Amino acid sequence: MSVATKETLEFRSELRQMLDLITHSLYSHEEVFLRELISNAADAIDRLRFRSLTDGELLGDDREYAIRLVADKDARTLTVSDNGVGMTRDEAVENLGTIARSGTKAFLESLAEVDAKSRPELIGQFGVGFYSAFMVADTVTVVSKAAGPGHEAIRWTSDGKGSFTVEPADRSARGTDVVLHLKEDKSDFLETWKLRQLVKQFSDFVEHPIVTPVDGKDETLNSQKAVWLRPKAEVTKDEYAAFYRQVSHDVGEPAKVLHYTGEGTTEFKVLLFIPATRPFDLRWGEAKVGPRLYVRRVLVMDHCEALLPPYLRFVKGVVDCADLPLNVSRELLQQNPLLAVIQKNLVKSVLKALAELKKDEPEAYAKFFVEVGSILKEGLARDHANAAAIADLLLFESTKTEKGKTTTLSAYVDGMPEGQKEIYYLTGESRAQVENAPVLEGFRASGFEVLLLTDPIDELVLPSFPEYKGKPLRAVDRADVDAAPEGSKPTDEEESSFKPLLARLGEHLPSVKEVRLSRRLTESASCLVAAEGEMGAHLERLLAHSGHADGLEGRKRVLELNARHPLVAALRELHEAGPDDPRVELYGGLLYEEALLSEGGRLVDPASFARRLNEVLLRDASAPFPGGAKEA
Ligand code: ADP
Repeated sequence: MSVATKETLEFRSELRQMLDLITHSLYSHEEVFLRELISNAADAIDRLRFRSLTDGELLGDDREYAIRLVADKDARTLTVSDNGVGMTRDEAVENLGTIARSGTKAFLESLAEVDAKSRPELIGQFGVGFYSAFMVADTVTVVSKAAGPGHEAIRWTSDGKGSFTVEPADRSARGTDVVLHLKEDKSDFLETWKLRQLVKQFSDFVEHPIVTPVDGKDETLNSQKAVWLRPKAEVTKDEYAAFYRQVSHDVGEPAKVLHYTGEGTTEFKVLLFIPATRPFDLRWGEAKVGPRLYVRRVLVMDHCEALLPPYLRFVKGVVDCADLPLNVSRELLQQNPLLAVIQKNLVKSVLKALAELKKDEPEAYAKFFVEVGSILKEGLARDHANAAAIADLLLFESTKTEKGKTTTLSAYVDGMPEGQKEIYYLTGESRAQVENAPVLEGFRASGFEVLLLTDPIDELVLPSFPEYKGKPLRAVDRADVDAAPEGSKPTDEEESSFKPLLARLGEHLPSVKEVRLSRRLTESASCLVAAEGEMGAHLERLLAHSGHADGLEGRKRVLELNARHPLVAALRELHEAGPDDPRVELYGGLLYEEALLSEGGRLVDPASFARRLNEVLLRDASAPFPGGAKEA
């Protein structure tokens, strides 16, 4: 569509809100604007180069890709230019003003959660990089001409407040100029030394030259070194860290660097990073899976999903493979069988690197695992070929670790006492909730360690990982698991003497499938367990919380009573003395509700519980104090 006149258009409302934030509260790292504009320029060149593989006409005579920075001290403007794809009028309106970016909303929400220092990192992460220009400029003008025949140049202008204008412009060559009219106090960005410093710091590895005129001659400001193509011995730790920050938008250093050449059916260069903490995109917004894919140094995809499985989405970096075809669509390329071969290799290497990190730097690994472990665990269910290797990377708290400290499956198995055949675990919301659960009593008494799992993902992935080194994994809150030491289990006499009471309570408690004597309690009076084949209480609650409660009602649990507990024994006597004594049902009901509360469950009718409990308390309070008269 041709642009005849000047039009004024409104920014989308989320954008307006975001621009307001950018101009008013994101001042701390304002210099990142340059990195963002350079990255857009490089991206525009990469897109053109990629398209030109199938459409040679696009390039014309202008084949020397470059990003130019031109400072004009008189006009107080800094211009970032590229000879990339450019934009048509509609593209400019859409991309710079109205596009509904799913990232924008997430960006706004996440701003509230991070400290001011990390905020500018978020700008790049959420694809709102262009607008960072308004941190330093009070007006931004974009002059652009789309590549290919038949496009007219356009000028887009805005003060970043409520609206922008678009109109025809003069520009004969394809590409884009982003002209920043700098704010009063931002004159530093007109100085060559400043531009040199910022490019070195943030954009050194951009593969196209970033040039600026100095005394009439062009000076290239970046080294353009493709780090992944250089020999490992030549790359410094700082260079790796700088490159890591460029690909990940992280602020810190990676926990581990993998840099190698993969060989076999095909040769490929790999430079991958394992982050020290949870990367930004996995905290907020859409997670992007896969490393960058280059084919002979040409960037083909920012995130190649075919190269890493989703459970390794925290891994950032680059893969460069010379044997892939360049002149096919990205969709077709993703199906290339070579990628599957490379993926296999990458997964093995990443898992091996994680194992090394765990062995050599346990503290760094523990920190990594707290933040990223739940993502890695997805692999247990998704990647059967590597499940054993993944299982070896997992850290768990247990009844034998201090709070916050962890053990591993292999340490667990090594520490199993004679006679223990299975690996036990209990899932729940928090350590405090699970570690005092009555169902653990028998396991403690037998000296059996129980893993305490409080990550919601555990419930979902463990069932698909039924055993480790030949030892079945078992949830302890199931009816068919018991581990109390010999001698603490109910005797035949106890079984028969309690039978009438259990039957009576079973009739009285319709929400319970069965009432029976416990083979696992050593201290508490009662507990609830899942009947054979049924899901545990924690999973049921998780499903209910996430709105998947359908079909969960009517699932009945098994109530277990501890025959050796004085209260349970007294209840039996009460029932023997008078089978119709209403207190049997009253007390039995309370024992059930107690069990429900102690496993973190919710009472269906808490008010009725309180009323009945008070009835008992009142009876006690009205009786004389057992020790005689109360102290004065
Ligand atoms: P992102 O680059 O993360 O998508 P931005 O807000 O930085 O988000 O840019 C928005 C869009 O504007 C880009 O996706 C791109 O389509 C377009 N754009 C920005 N700068 C340029 C440029 N120099 N050349 C061509 N298109 C550009």
